[in-house]
Amino acid sequence: THFGFKEVPEEEKETLVGGVFSSVASSYDLMNDSMSLGIHRLWKDSFVSTMVPRLPPSLHQNPSALTDPTASSTSSTFKCLDVAGGTGDIALRILDRAREKFACRDIEVEIVDLNQGMLNEGRKRVAKTLYYNTPQITFTHGNAQSLPTHIQDNSIDLYTIAFGIRNCTSLPAVLSEAYRVLKPGGKIGVLEFGKVSNPLFREVYRQYSFSFIPIMGKILAGDADSYQYLVESIERFPSQPEFAKLVQEAGFQTGQMKEGKGGAWTDFTGGIATMWTGVKA
Ligand code: SAM
Repeated sequence: THFGFKEVPEEEKETLVGGVFSSVASSYDLMNDSMSLGIHRLWKDSFVSTMVPRLPPSLHQNPSALTDPTASSTSSTFKCLDVAGGTGDIALRILDRAREKFACRDIEVEIVDLNQGMLNEGRKRVAKTLYYNTPQITFTHGNAQSLPTHIQDNSIDLYTIAFGIRNCTSLPAVLSEAYRVLKPGGKIGVLEFGKVSNPLFREVYRQYSFSFIPIMGKILAGDADSYQYLVESIERFPSQPEFAKLVQEAGFQTGQMKEGKGGAWTDFTGGIATMWTGVKA
């Protein structure tokens, strides 16, 4: 069976996505590493250092936050929402960067994900870190397209979504929810598979995706269909300028309609992955 989204009624899509991620949750990290040859780690590192270039000076002036991570939730706390945050890959990178680079623990990340299996894997992972049982990291079951109601309008400093938005039924719904919860001046960062620009490299990548990935999925996770679905969802996702246009249409200010410095997006590894950024005016 194929998980071809085009033939599936709208209401069933979310159930289907839930199923796909349930069947891969426990092997998720291993699969990411083997399929991207570990390169997804570099993409995520670059993404997080772009999205958290520094932390506002006020955060450094709160000495209690450095010694007592529970002295949090003050008005100066930097609030991040990592949607489709799954196993905590992005959230942990954000917190590590804040702590290691800026000696800042006055920052919180709430992970929102549609799949309980992924959230549980994330919880297990966090239990092995120094953020365990602190307000710095929390897990919420919820949908990117209509965020849980406790997340209020204009309340978030940084919204991230990595390799999650392509599974959502309505990209505009996700982006307008992000816009709604962000504070004015707050930033959005979307990391997702892009389109490879070089025609030769594109062909090599296509061969790799359609043959190697489902086979690896079968061998490592015993599940070729889920990985076939992942490959197809990558193909269906809009191109870099198309998605940048959606970001703008949701109300965000972006760079110019081009790749790279001053542009609305940045390609990694020839466009296999792409980061789009925007600011709420
Ligand atoms: N962000 C993590 C990373 O980069 O490693 C996880 C990415 S994983 C490929 C995609 C995640 O998106 C899964 O955990 C899945 O449950 C979640 N997801 C899919 N559709 C969603 C939706 N509508 N709302 C929230 N999460 C969703």
